[in-house]
Amino acid sequence: MTSFRIQICWLILVAGLFHISQPRPARAVEHVMANIDGRELELSGKVLIEDSVGSMLLETDEGAMWPIEARMIRSRTSDSEPLVSLDKKQLAQRLLKEMGPGFQSHESKHYVVVFNTTRTYAKWCSSLLERLQRAFIAYWSKRGCEVRAPTAPLAVLVFSDKASYLHHAKKELGEGAGNAIGYYSFGTNRIVMYDLTGVQQLRRENSRRGTKHDITALLSQPEAEPLVATIVHEATHQISFNCGLQKRFSFPPIWLSEGMAVYFETPDLSGSRSWGGIGKVNYSRWDRYRGRVRAGQEIRLKSLLVNDNLFREPRTALDAYAAAWAWNYFLIKWHPEEYTSYLKELAEKPLLVVDDKATKLADFRKHFGKDLGALEDDFYRRMSRIK
Ligand SMILES: [Zn+2]
Repeated sequence: MTSFRIQICWLILVAGLFHISQPRPARAVEHVMANIDGRELELSGKVLIEDSVGSMLLETDEGAMWPIEARMIRSRTSDSEPLVSLDKKQLAQRLLKEMGPGFQSHESKHYVVVFNTTRTYAKWCSSLLERLQRAFIAYWSKRGCEVRAPTAPLAVLVFSDKASYLHHAKKELGEGAGNAIGYYSFGTNRIVMYDLTGVQQLRRENSRRGTKHDITALLSQPEAEPLVATIVHEATHQISFNCGLQKRFSFPPIWLSEGMAVYFETPDLSGSRSWGGIGKVNYSRWDRYRGRVRAGQEIRLKSLLVNDNLFREPRTALDAYAAAWAWNYFLIKWHPEEYTSYLKELAEKPLLVVDDKATKLADFRKHFGKDLGALEDDFYRRMSRIK
């Protein structure tokens, strides 16, 4: 969650460097040598968009997207081959090579999990993610969204402990990696996390962490709920950006992306094949939001819609996430058709264009009505009835 905010900050910065003129359609695979953050990288992929001076957004065969400024490019050539996505085996090989000795891979229907913890834990993760993905896609299809299971495999890295996870995360996120227990990057398109069964506060005397049953028992404890919720949160971002619901690098509103991920957070660790957690009241978020309302310090709707800094500032971030949950809950529950049409319009937005405040407000009003005050009145009335 935290890391996603950082990712967005960084990406907004990157987006500001581009001067998009007319997007050029991709014709071939581009091979680019570029100096990115002091490293010489050789990247091959499809140019999704390019500006008049040669800055580009490049999508690779493993689904990563690289915003590359013209000044970073050392050389580029192209061929006439179409870009072919890696299959699960190829993706696993690529990740294993990158991660080095000690890592293994596990493949499920839609995921490639590369890990240096136990295989049982990797399987537990992929089973959780598969159930969430199935339920997520069924949920939005039923609401009229054009979503489909991703055809390319999704990558997940699982480290055995927090220290090695942080070592990896800091290379990508900098010092901001500190408190998160996992993150999704819409640059690499990967989820990165560590084995939660090793978290000290969850361990009980004589507790084992070997079998699937042990893992489920350990992570079903109330103490584990916020940790598992974070994994579900990050996995929700990944699915959402890979099933057609949201588009990477088109910068959907933060209150919407984050609020939707929080909406799906309520974990369901039952062994059943279905996912019963969708749409349950997220009480930890709700308690926080209600506390602010009672103190007369709630974040007002207009501010939530346009002020992304609320999510970035440590002082306001928790309140912003709570407000984002409350508004997404309200809109999905009581304005489902408008919410769907709003999502559809956002998914059509051009790449690398950051909307200004006026556009964000106009988009919202177009779908949910011009009178934000009346909508807020209805919101407070309905939400006050939550038990
Ligand atoms: Zn998030």
